[in-house]
Amino acid sequence: MKTKLCLLYGGKSAEHQVSLQTAKAVIQALDHEKFDINPIYINTEGKWIKGEAITGPIESVKALEFSTGEMIAPNALSTSLVSAPSESEANSGYDVIFPLLHGPNGEDGTVQGMLELLNLPYVGNGVLASAAGMDKVIMKNLFAQAGLEQVKYVWFIRNNWESNREAAYEKVEKELGYPCFVKPANLGSSVGISKCMNRNELGAAFEEAFQFDRKVIVEEGIIAREIEIGVLGNDDPECSVAGEIVPKKDFYDYKAKYEDGNTALIIPAEISSDTYRELTKTAIQAFKALDCSGLVRADFFVTSEGKVLINEVNTMPGFTPFSMFPLLWKHSGVEYPALIERLVELAQERHKDKQ
Ligand code: ADP
Ligand code: MG
Ligand code: MG
Repeated sequence: MKTKLCLLYGGKSAEHQVSLQTAKAVIQALDHEKFDINPIYINTEGKWIKGEAITGPIESVKALEFSTGEMIAPNALSTSLVSAPSESEANSGYDVIFPLLHGPNGEDGTVQGMLELLNLPYVGNGVLASAAGMDKVIMKNLFAQAGLEQVKYVWFIRNNWESNREAAYEKVEKELGYPCFVKPANLGSSVGISKCMNRNELGAAFEEAFQFDRKVIVEEGIIAREIEIGVLGNDDPECSVAGEIVPKKDFYDYKAKYEDGNTALIIPAEISSDTYRELTKTAIQAFKALDCSGLVRADFFVTSEGKVLINEVNTMPGFTPFSMFPLLWKHSGVEYPALIERLVELAQERHKDKQ
């Protein structure tokens, strides 16, 4: 019997277009003999639109951006998701939901919470890991508690900063100094992130970051290589080879990630076996510190002395065939179609474990 898969993609976040590319690539890679593919598109206004089952190859992402179709009202979401996706097997619901969403309202535990309520198996991290991974302060606090090394950081709430900016700047200068990185606590894709060299830039960076979030984290800026590891699994996760990101710009900002396309990805990264061992050990510890499941991409800074610092885990990393996570697994012997099938299996395994 075919697995009835529901792909959830698009979304209101800055990564809408990326999500569409991912959906197209996943549909192309899936074996249509094994999977029934049912699309749900979330448009830029956040409306959920259910499309017809996809039975063949698709020409372009345009074909996935439904403007008409069954609009799913929030209060009807549950019945729509658990009712029959195909006429032949009425009322059996989807076997697995695959959220191909990044950022707030997709990667942050909200969609995951809804799927929990509906008791549906879904690919990737659960509510807790997704939410903790989306908030850089909470994530770093959990890493600290697990004894992982990371850069120094402080954080602020908008109202407190507004009432005494001077105190905030002094705290940053006393505890971190320059350069420092200012980031909205709850975003990804480098949106709203600035590197600051002095107090003027710090003020502007706070203004910018607070546009995106009421909570802002400031980190000590370091000079280091950026190395990433893919982690796959549930209770006994495994690591991929390591990859290095070499941004051509000052840092790996939004443009470097999605627009320039000239950031070099070096896979496998040229690192010693000792460093690789340290990275994989830390990646698994980070995965466990947030109680992750399915997948994460663990991102590190590695200094010239070979010191390994965890930067973040991404609970729904970029997932086009040209993104780091799938490429890391390809170099580790797991091709894109097999990776997708593995994730679906892991979703079902975790769902069974919970019952
Ligand atoms: P996001 O979740 O948006 O990817 P990151 O914390 O990974 O946010 O920051 C984006 C990029 O900014 C990193 O890939 C790196 O190039 C740079 N960066 C972030 N924090 C630091 C830091 N503390 N020191 C040096 N570079 C940093
Ligand atoms: Mg991130
Ligand atoms: Mg990052």
